[in-house]
Amino acid sequence: MSRFLSRKLAGLEAYVPGEQPKDKRYIKLNTNESPYPPPKNVVEAIGKAEIEDLRLYSDPECTALKSAIAEQYGVDTENIFISNGSDEILNFAFMAYGDRGAVFPDITYGFYSVFADLYGINAEVMPLKGDFMVDINDYCNKNSLVVIANPNAPTGIALELSEVEKIVSSNPDGIVIIDEAYVDFGAESTVRLTEKYSNLLVVQTYSKSRSMAGARLGYGFANEQIIEDLEKIKYSTNPYNINRLTQIAGTAAIENQAYFDGNCRKIAETREYVKEELRNLGFTVSDSKANFLFAKSDKIGGKELYLSLKERGILIRHFESKRIKDYNRITVGSREEMEIFLKNVGEIIGGKV
Ligand SMILES: *Cc1c(COP(=O)(O)O)cnc(C)c1O
Repeated sequence: MSRFLSRKLAGLEAYVPGEQPKDKRYIKLNTNESPYPPPKNVVEAIGKAEIEDLRLYSDPECTALKSAIAEQYGVDTENIFISNGSDEILNFAFMAYGDRGAVFPDITYGFYSVFADLYGINAEVMPLKGDFMVDINDYCNKNSLVVIANPNAPTGIALELSEVEKIVSSNPDGIVIIDEAYVDFGAESTVRLTEKYSNLLVVQTYSKSRSMAGARLGYGFANEQIIEDLEKIKYSTNPYNINRLTQIAGTAAIENQAYFDGNCRKIAETREYVKEELRNLGFTVSDSKANFLFAKSDKIGGKELYLSLKERGILIRHFESKRIKDYNRITVGSREEMEIFLKNVGEIIGGKV
């Protein structure tokens, strides 16, 4: 840190992304990426002409992309905000709506507390209940910024639509963000509720279910006034936040619904298979609706399993924080990857008895 850094930032603890090691090729089950490539029409959409056009700025209004998303979700373009990864929407929303504090669970996406710190927002952190359940009563009648990942990360556990609606309807004077990064793998989306509630912001991403983490593309749904707020921040920081190639790729990807549906279904099926197999190996595994599983074993510590698998060329995610240090978060890869994963876990655990 230099002596010039703003005092406001000196104490900030930055978000730590999952590791992306370059020393060898791993089976990567640590950052919830898709095992499947983007659809073929994305590859076909980007050719020499599109690359040569990189000399020009991108469309700050993301016109084509917004129309494609609007059509797919049956909403108006005025109700959509497009961002450089959904992290950027979350960033803007904390910046915009944190004045009266923020409320989120103790075990959830690590970025929420980083954004709260970044903007000096008073965070009320609600412990998850036994079995890592979100108790919706903890988030009702707050009228500050309420932030819920649904399904939650890293547990994968989802709330029902009616439960989310209770949180939204009981906070008429505060923004409720529902982070639906994993919603496509089996939970119920709240997108439709944005027509009914003017305080709801639903955030989704191309990074997980749409196989485009590297493109950095997120989008949010909300009423027009909220979208205007977010646009104001975008035009005050980085009007060309979505690059040309990503706009083209994102537009093409959303048009291939059948491929997308097939991938989500395959991942959900593989998830259920791995969950059962892990339970057979004696693991405690939560009922995930996401593209990952959250699991612990009485036979081996979370960190030890993580390190043993890493040695064998398989990366999973271990978190050091106290309440979940016995657990690991395991991204659901392809069926073949997961069979290799399970075989190795079986060997590691078998050596323990
Ligand atoms: C992965 C993830 C995101 C954001 O990812 P982007 O790549 O920035 O779109 C947001 N929320 C949760 C809960 C996530 O797991």
